[in-house]
Amino acid sequence: MKKMKIPKQKTYGIFSNCAYMIRRAWRECKSVLAIVLGLIFCGVAGSLLELFVVPAILKAVERGVSPMALGGMILWFTLGMVLVRALRRYLDENTIFGRVRVRSTLCLDVHLAFCRTSYPHIEDPDYLKRTEKAQHGLTHNSSAGEAIWRTLTELLTNLISFVIYLLLLAQAGPWVAALCIALSAVSYFVGEHMRTWRYRHRDEEGQLFHKLDYCIARSQDLRLAKDIRIFGLASWLTELYDKHARLFRDFQAKCQRYCLLADLLDVIITLLRNGAAYGLLIAMALRGELTAAEFVLYFTAVSGFTGWVTGIFSGLTTLHRQSLDLSAVREFLKTPELFRFDDGRPLAVKPDHLYTLELRDVAFRYPGADHDTLSHINLTIRPGEKLAVVGKNGAGKTTLIKLLCGLYDPTEGQVLLDGEDIRQYNRRDYYKHFSAVFQQFSPLAGTMAENVAQTAAVDLPRVWDCLERAGLADKIRELPQKENTHLGREVYLDGIDLSGGQMQRLMLARALYKNAPLVVLDEPTAALDPLAESDLYQKYSSLTGNCTSVYISHRLASTRFCDRVLLIENGGIAEEGTHEELLEQGGRYAYLFNLQSKYYKEGAMEDE
Ligand code: ADP
Repeated sequence: MKKMKIPKQKTYGIFSNCAYMIRRAWRECKSVLAIVLGLIFCGVAGSLLELFVVPAILKAVERGVSPMALGGMILWFTLGMVLVRALRRYLDENTIFGRVRVRSTLCLDVHLAFCRTSYPHIEDPDYLKRTEKAQHGLTHNSSAGEAIWRTLTELLTNLISFVIYLLLLAQAGPWVAALCIALSAVSYFVGEHMRTWRYRHRDEEGQLFHKLDYCIARSQDLRLAKDIRIFGLASWLTELYDKHARLFRDFQAKCQRYCLLADLLDVIITLLRNGAAYGLLIAMALRGELTAAEFVLYFTAVSGFTGWVTGIFSGLTTLHRQSLDLSAVREFLKTPELFRFDDGRPLAVKPDHLYTLELRDVAFRYPGADHDTLSHINLTIRPGEKLAVVGKNGAGKTTLIKLLCGLYDPTEGQVLLDGEDIRQYNRRDYYKHFSAVFQQFSPLAGTMAENVAQTAAVDLPRVWDCLERAGLADKIRELPQKENTHLGREVYLDGIDLSGGQMQRLMLARALYKNAPLVVLDEPTAALDPLAESDLYQKYSSLTGNCTSVYISHRLASTRFCDRVLLIENGGIAEEGTHEELLEQGGRYAYLFNLQSKYYKEGAMEDE
């Protein structure tokens, strides 16, 4: 396998990310854009109404209008404000659905990309970190993928209002406007530097939180429940939790201190700014340069104006942060693949065709390892052949299988299907050729039938046929809802847990249901009792039919029913032949076989 360092990608700027989100919204939910515009209109209109209401009334009083006209004017202003506020509230509440929709489609893209990426990626810490970063930008309503609409709305509202207020204050005198802009900027940048301490230390916070979360998740992990009780892991977990909780609390306290300091500085600078601006206005009023209405108008504008300036800066900072999060999402979605997928040659499964699989001078090394796990492997699995691969734990059997299945590409050499290098094909098409039972069970919380068919559109007679052949039909018939019984209790309270052996049979039924021409079984009897194991050996030929199949086991006795046995040792094929041939050779296979059978015989005699 090549060194899997993911190449540095182009980063996306703020404008590019905003344009990306607008394009997505245009495609997935146009109403989001209309509502953003509506909210901007309401924001600007609302603030203008609030700004002009008192000066307008004052001016009317100065002009000596009738109480009737004054009342009408107040009524219109009030009505306007109520309407704008109601509309704003309505739009704000309604937009949530569209915003959530745009974010969820992004979440789905990230999720699908992870499920479909080249297999080595999911073992690559760098890729996993990128996934985590991408998800960070999409997890909550307040994450960048959704909150950006609010930020854009507020930023544009602030910008438009800023221009209007600037034109207004400029009439009072350039000094007032300049003073407000300068001191608002100082206040914002000083405060922001303090407040963003947490953001700058987000990796540290993430790690602390991750450790804390790990302790909680482990203590609730059903797979650990037995060991927690038997080994008394609870106190160890509590110690770990306490330690990480302390570190997390210290971090939070430090963060709070910075925020407090920032607020204090903000109050001081606001006092200075408003004091100076109001002082200027009062001086102008005293000199008779402003009427009472103008004075009130500018006085209100000063406090509002600083709000717009701060709003613009803080909007830009928030947008910058959200843009970084969105960049992480886009970079993740554009991660270059190690395998060819849609750009590869299509490869349809040929019905009734017997395939030849070949490893040609294959070497494989895990990233970061200092030696090859497998080297110089030359192996041709003939059409319809039943091959067994045996060897000690850690010999490289599973690695060999993953190479054959196309989950890894070799570091050197080639994997060939019917003589063609598999790297040229669309890898997803290649996977369609395999039915497999891996060591780790991978059921989902669906019904038994769905778990066999791997879809909700189940072909029931076929499911029962596969359950029968896998030896699980009797068990499923006994269940309260038969094949419609839910598996596991993680999601469905009425779910049923299967034993390890039963689960292994379910996985076998799933492999049979797929009915692919190449069959791979990695230690399929590990969780079976000896009787069930022997039953599976006897049925092996009928289970795999004419398919070309590879059977992995560390139990050498289990290979007799195969056409050929490979013994993997020291990264290579140490011996190969039929079971009898290898015994006759009297080499490593014979030695290991005799050793294993001695223990089995002794075990059997003790049992007797
Ligand atoms: P077997 O199936 O024969 O027990 P494996 O193929 O699982 O052996 O493993 C072969 C060797 O490769 C072992 O030494 C194991 O530690 C190492 N190995 C397996 N998977 C990985 C991995 N994802 N990263 C690094 N090393 C691995």
